[in-house]
Amino acid sequence: MNRLRYLILLLAFVAGSQIASLAGDAPAPVPHPRYVFFFIGDGMGLAHVSMAEALLAERHGKTGIQKLNMSTFPVMTFAATFAKNRYITCSAAAGTALATGEKTSINTIGMDSARTHPLRTIAERARAKGMKVGIMTTVSIDHATPACFYAHQPDRNMYYEIGTQLLSSGFDFFGGGGFKYPTGKNKDQPDLYQAVAAKGYTIVKEQKVFDTVSVRSLPMMVVNPVLSASSDMPYAMDSVSGSFSLSGIVKKAIEVLDNPKGFFMMVEGGKIDWAAHANDAAAIIGEVLELDKAIGYALEFYRQHPDETLIIVTADHETGGLALGWAGTQYESDFTLLDRQKVSSDLFDAKMKAYKKRTPASMVRFDSVMRMVATDFGLGADIRLSKCEEEQLRRAFRISMSGEKESLCKDENTVLFDIYEPIGVTARRILANKAGIGFTTWMHTGSPVPVRVIGAGQELFNGFPDNTDIPKNIARLLRLPEIK
Ligand SMILES: [Zn+2]
Repeated sequence: MNRLRYLILLLAFVAGSQIASLAGDAPAPVPHPRYVFFFIGDGMGLAHVSMAEALLAERHGKTGIQKLNMSTFPVMTFAATFAKNRYITCSAAAGTALATGEKTSINTIGMDSARTHPLRTIAERARAKGMKVGIMTTVSIDHATPACFYAHQPDRNMYYEIGTQLLSSGFDFFGGGGFKYPTGKNKDQPDLYQAVAAKGYTIVKEQKVFDTVSVRSLPMMVVNPVLSASSDMPYAMDSVSGSFSLSGIVKKAIEVLDNPKGFFMMVEGGKIDWAAHANDAAAIIGEVLELDKAIGYALEFYRQHPDETLIIVTADHETGGLALGWAGTQYESDFTLLDRQKVSSDLFDAKMKAYKKRTPASMVRFDSVMRMVATDFGLGADIRLSKCEEEQLRRAFRISMSGEKESLCKDENTVLFDIYEPIGVTARRILANKAGIGFTTWMHTGSPVPVRVIGAGQELFNGFPDNTDIPKNIARLLRLPEIK
């Protein structure tokens, strides 16, 4: 390619379709989406999605996969996720990469790795362009991933400070979990919900209000009526009554944010990561399916505006080292065994805590606990336990009830239970293993994550991008302005 032709092509890309047409045989006009959906499955590696797809197929008696919405996208590749100062990243560094196009250090929110300068995010730049902006998540709204799109703080644990930056973001829609510390860690700061309302946001906490809000209610903050102590939403598999769903919130966001200047939405499936940390395969599937249902609403919108919509689905990192295949089951798998699990780690561990609280130490019985395990996991009931598996549960029982770590050395204890309730985590792992699923860790891994794309500009995402390339591509396609 001679230099002149190269220059023309470059100009064509920069200035868009008019100049491209002057170049004669120049490539097709650069797409210009107006509606961007950025879905981030926190911790959602390839196996997390494949496991859900394999289970759906098996439920219909088939070996193979039943594709989720996200797997129908024409572009699928993988992105590298490493942080500036550590190969295995965290949600703050990875969220910053996905929001700003810059690598940063572990635990940093929207700032450079030295934590001295804020890095502007594609959400802030979209707002500066006049687009409407929505941020949604199943975990608290000040958690690392959502925070990376509107806040700039040296540490992800500065929840209250992050919350104050939500206030000044000027974004149009927040939805999902609430503030982790609405009045600060010491409960001595002005209430963030009151401050949000004072800024003119409609705060939506009830179903009947949720059903009636419209574009006239913007800006708004949807706070799930049912929140845990950490202000996250319940797991989808627990179907807690009175809870909103992530997909329902996304559907509402599409309805109210649709406008001629376009919108940018970031939607996080935040508890895919939490379930994977807890090695809870059934809860992972529930969260992946719920995120995919939300993606289904985005796809409906895309079909109405195919030339102006771009949908990206990716993850910040993989969690759990999840593999389809486990040493003990060799080449066999039966994912439908996971359907036997009735409650998530959140609910089962809460049940165990309640049992320990109401039962004097001299009265606790292995048989009583095993009845709970049988009801909630099928283990020891319709799913037979081997001697070895029963012994694992017995040991977990002893450790759980005594609070002591027996003769286990620290490393072994970490590998077996980490921070989790020993019986619950042992039951979940036995069930997953019997299904043919293995976890290598309670933490994140450095495996590259899938990137799935459909819509205007999809070709730009091909190859093996770095996670920072994703927001750079979005900014190019949207022609986002640089801002200070
Ligand atoms: Zn995590």
